[in-house]
Amino acid sequence: MTKRNLKRDYYEVLGVPRSATADEIKKAYRTLALKHHPDRNPDNRKEAEEKFKELSEAYEVLEDPQKRAAYDQHGHEGVSGAFREGSFTWNDFTHYQDISDLFGGLEDIFGVNLGGAFGGGRSRAQAAHAGSDLEYRVRITLKEVLTGTERPLEFLRMETCDVCRGEGAKPGSKRQTCPQCQGQGQVRISQGFFTMASTCPKCRGEGSMVTQPCPNCRGGGRVQQKKTVHLKIPPGIEDGMRLRLQGEGEGGVRGGSRGDLFVSVSVQPHEYFQRHGADLFGDAPVTFQKVALGGEIEVPTLEGRVMIKIPPGTQTGKVFRLRGKGLPALRSGGLGDQMVRVVVETPAHLTPAGRRILEQFDRESRPQDTPQVHSFLERIKRWIR
Ligand SMILES: [Zn+2]
Ligand SMILES: [Zn+2]
Repeated sequence: MTKRNLKRDYYEVLGVPRSATADEIKKAYRTLALKHHPDRNPDNRKEAEEKFKELSEAYEVLEDPQKRAAYDQHGHEGVSGAFREGSFTWNDFTHYQDISDLFGGLEDIFGVNLGGAFGGGRSRAQAAHAGSDLEYRVRITLKEVLTGTERPLEFLRMETCDVCRGEGAKPGSKRQTCPQCQGQGQVRISQGFFTMASTCPKCRGEGSMVTQPCPNCRGGGRVQQKKTVHLKIPPGIEDGMRLRLQGEGEGGVRGGSRGDLFVSVSVQPHEYFQRHGADLFGDAPVTFQKVALGGEIEVPTLEGRVMIKIPPGTQTGKVFRLRGKGLPALRSGGLGDQMVRVVVETPAHLTPAGRRILEQFDRESRPQDTPQVHSFLERIKRWIR
């Protein structure tokens, strides 16, 4: 199993080819930034904000030749180290100048709930950061849906450094208020008519700085560690469901809360069974002599083979219900059923003797033996009269 990166390809996000020039990337970003600006999408602001952030992250990486090269070579993994918290936040965004003219001022763009880094004068001093959520995908079989299952999930995650307890400062030393922004986390730049707030370059928006970094985490407050989490998947889980393991995401910074671990479960399609909720469906091919004479057929269930009695005169399409042979219902806790649909197979070949027998059988047949065929022929006569 691999750690699932939900991020889209940065080139795809900006809609540019991998060969795009810096100018083309900038142009694409500006166009999309205009389109997805949250203020321009009041009806789905939340979505627009996310989109806008995604665009900005892609731009932040692709605009920088070094980061772009790292991304081209190693994908998202290659640039995660460039972001302060392991993944992009607004604190990492350094290219606001490239779009500031589009909106007439940065406060307009970032003023509301875009992570707060550029928010109207809010201090980010000593800000605690919550750890990122992690996302995994696991694939299970239908049989595991029946019984429930367990998976050890092994992955790397950022953990709060226990040497400095996430403070980033060498034990015994202290963080100092940033001299450049006086702890505000942002500096103001005047440009034309506008005053723009921008992340303080010295403390990168933290408002404070470590003067003697912790040797264990090199001042970041977190270290990457290999973890194994035992995931329990309950019986009856449906394809595409997401399990949330609270607090199993990455550790926070300076007292920030832990992220969560989300596991999306996909259920492998079964070769034979189709699933509808807790019920299972499957066809059973049967010879026409067996449905005519009656008998037993063998069908698979998730727990082994069972025999079904077929009464004489069973029609094709008839569904037999095997009670309790389905899957556990997630909510009610009961068990679903298995439906077996009889599909009559007409002989594709006949021996000469078989043919003679069938011809004789045909002469023996009376209209009332196949009432549907008989009434159909009667009705045809009426319809075309
Ligand atoms: Zn540390
Ligand atoms: Zn500062």
